[in-house]
Amino acid sequence: MVMNWSFWEKDTWWENLDVLIVGAGITGLSTAISLKEAKPRLRIAVVDRNTWTGGASTRNAGFACFGSPTELLANEKQMGRDAMLQLVERRYQGLLLLRTRIGDAALRFAPCGGHEIFLAEDGPAYQECLGALDGLNQGLKDILPYSPAFFPSKPGLGWAWGDAKLISAPAEGRIHPGRMVEALATMATSKGVLVATGVKVSRWWDADDHVKVVIGEGNEVSVGQLILTTNGFTPELFPQLPVQPGRNQVLITTPIGGLTWDGCFHYQQGYGYLRRVGDRVLIGGFRHLDRERESTGVLGENEDLINHMKAWLSENILPARGWEVEMTWSGILGLGDTPAPLLGHVSNRVIAAVRLGGMGVALGSLLGQGAAMLALEKELLFPDWYFGASSLS
Ligand SMILES: Cc1cc2nc3c(=O)[nH]c(=O)nc-3n(C[C@H](O)[C@H](O)[C@H](O)COP(=O)(O)OP(=O)(O)OC[C@H]3O[C@@H](n4cnc5c(N)ncnc54)[C@H](O)[C@@H]3O)c2cc1C
Repeated sequence: MVMNWSFWEKDTWWENLDVLIVGAGITGLSTAISLKEAKPRLRIAVVDRNTWTGGASTRNAGFACFGSPTELLANEKQMGRDAMLQLVERRYQGLLLLRTRIGDAALRFAPCGGHEIFLAEDGPAYQECLGALDGLNQGLKDILPYSPAFFPSKPGLGWAWGDAKLISAPAEGRIHPGRMVEALATMATSKGVLVATGVKVSRWWDADDHVKVVIGEGNEVSVGQLILTTNGFTPELFPQLPVQPGRNQVLITTPIGGLTWDGCFHYQQGYGYLRRVGDRVLIGGFRHLDRERESTGVLGENEDLINHMKAWLSENILPARGWEVEMTWSGILGLGDTPAPLLGHVSNRVIAAVRLGGMGVALGSLLGQGAAMLALEKELLFPDWYFGASSLS
């Protein structure tokens, strides 16, 4: 059924929009807030086709993290040392912007620290990390607030995996992703931004001095600029950009008594991750074990991976404790051949700020700020994230 807008609806919300932002995740909401901070009189709407966010921002694990040693060493091989260190710096700066903007209380930020886990089978990776740790710490000493940024440690009391090794990262913390998006949406709304969920953008095209956008099945609006913050779903609206969707599975346990440890835990380049959520444990990822089925932008359960995570948790972390799986869900990442995001014009009046990979909590605010500066034609904050029209295939 096509529901046409009434004259009143169109007149109230959709006329004379300076900027329409597609995607109400951390990037879209941050873009709107940055735009309003710079130009309070702009008329801005942020729309999302889902009830909350349908990709990653309210479906993630809530790690306020910058990259574990195995992941950073893999990134260094892909993009070079300087670019890898710069990315860590931006993740940290992005997190500071988010924390300053909405406050640690609203974010439920806890500076719990992070750790990379190495089980017996991960011995070679552990040795490689130990060998590279001084170099990594040297590079990060002026970037992160703790020096050394990483150091070897051991699981504490109450941990099941007595002979596992850890490399700890004291600068990491955790947040509550739902509260983060709630606070960003409240802030955007309080600045006069229309935040509308359940609103899908179906198509867009350039017109003379504006962009035409079709909302839902057939309501058409003219906007001054369109900003796509659609992360893993970007190919649906602009397939020429090199963004691939990737799915991640997550499960959370029922409450477990007597947990004595805390922190954000990474496993095998961050493909696996777990943390405490009060007296529950959340575990997610392991996409690398089933790349074929998880290379999709469609939410859904992968029972094999859920079962794998359940068994991994039982064997390595929570043996001999009574717990059940309380909930499972999935989320969609925006991936590319490097972990750096993409920011740029896809046409004269259409900007994309997308592809946040697995660490968008840390990057989203900064990418939104960059998108706002681009829309306002201010100096580019991150020229190396910018893609020129020539790179569009
Ligand atoms: C399971 C999981 C765990 C993660 N864990 C962490 C973590 O612990 N720490 C961390 O830093 N990062 C983590 N990430 C990554 C992080 O969540 C993302 O990088 C970040 O949330 C991306 O934010 P975004 O706003 O760019 O995109 P999204 O949050 O994906 O938002 C894009 C939005 O666009 C909307 N949309 C798409 N197409 C349309 C359309 N046509 N019309 C209207 N709306 C549309 C979607 O509904 C979606 O809500 C995780 C991701 C997943 C999936």
